[in-house]
Amino acid sequence: MQFKEIIGQQAVKALLVQNVKENRVSHAQLFLGDEGSGALPLAIAYAQYINCLNKQGSDSCGICASCRKYEKLIHPDLHFSYPFFASKDVKSALAVLPEWRNMVLEDAYFNLSIWQNKLSAEKKQANINRAECHEIIKKMSLKAFEADVKVVIMWLPEYLENDGNVLLKLLEEPPENSLFLLVSQQRDAILPTILSRTQLLKIPKLSDDEIKGYLSQNFSLTDAQIESYGYLADGNLIEAKLMATSSVNSHFQTFTDWLRLGFRNDGLALMNFSEELAGWGRESQKNFLRYGIHFLRECALILNGAEELVKLPPEALEVAKNLSTKVLNTASIEALVSELDKACFHVERNANAKILFLDVSLQIVKIIKFNSLPSGIQYIYN
Ligand SMILES: [Zn+2]
Repeated sequence: MQFKEIIGQQAVKALLVQNVKENRVSHAQLFLGDEGSGALPLAIAYAQYINCLNKQGSDSCGICASCRKYEKLIHPDLHFSYPFFASKDVKSALAVLPEWRNMVLEDAYFNLSIWQNKLSAEKKQANINRAECHEIIKKMSLKAFEADVKVVIMWLPEYLENDGNVLLKLLEEPPENSLFLLVSQQRDAILPTILSRTQLLKIPKLSDDEIKGYLSQNFSLTDAQIESYGYLADGNLIEAKLMATSSVNSHFQTFTDWLRLGFRNDGLALMNFSEELAGWGRESQKNFLRYGIHFLRECALILNGAEELVKLPPEALEVAKNLSTKVLNTASIEALVSELDKACFHVERNANAKILFLDVSLQIVKIIKFNSLPSGIQYIYN
């Protein structure tokens, strides 16, 4: 992976290159960036650059012996650690290393839900367990085979359990010539003891223009679609790609179906619908809820006479206009957004999905069918 393959992030790339040139590479670094910002490919490109035998001005050469192995992710001194979904057949991260390499080589922009699908491990809980931590310690204590710097890249350290504390000594007194790169999306979810021992590098979101540029180069879309997806993706390249390859168009369909069922107050259909949502993986559920929030905010713009600011694809715009004039009003949109927002929060905390989605469905009925706006209710789903 070379820096030039990574979308945007010019300032971060320049900073990383400069750190290497000035010999200021800190041995434990935390790359913190929202989903779809490119933090993982940046970490890999950085490690490749550090170990490149023929560094160019601002990138690795891509062809030296080290780069060639890095390009295939098979360098013996490059190690990965990542959440996995333990099962009867999969007992360690190592067991799914070929899948991991494939995933990164196919497309280094992915999220936990895509990784989950890759492993066909839907609905299971991901983690980086104690055995995996010991594996990392073992790998790091070995002498480097051939590289100048031995690297461990840990994707999503927020999935380290408390056992992650066994890594502290390694972070504090790393073996010579070793580099530990943590790639995280959620600073708050990382063990504070680990946080305090790493140097923080914030990776900003991509700009709408960077996303639009990427979409127009890689997909055949209309200008209106590029404009709309670029805006709705909110800096998340993964989300933008999902929209471009239409799975979010199905989010649109699913979400508006949900509102319609709510408006018809069709209890049985809502129950089935909630069960179906409950069967999705957690990440898909969150993406779907976030899409709903986006969509409702666009409806609010229409209601407030700011239709020119709405960036929905034409067919979605028609539906949004229809819903806005016939079913929704500003207060109900606010209440719905708040429900979806709360649901996102509870999904993240492993709420019982069946109860959660059924409850949101009932709130939707209350809000848009009976115009009753919930206030100050305590929600308990666990
Ligand atoms: Zn090279």
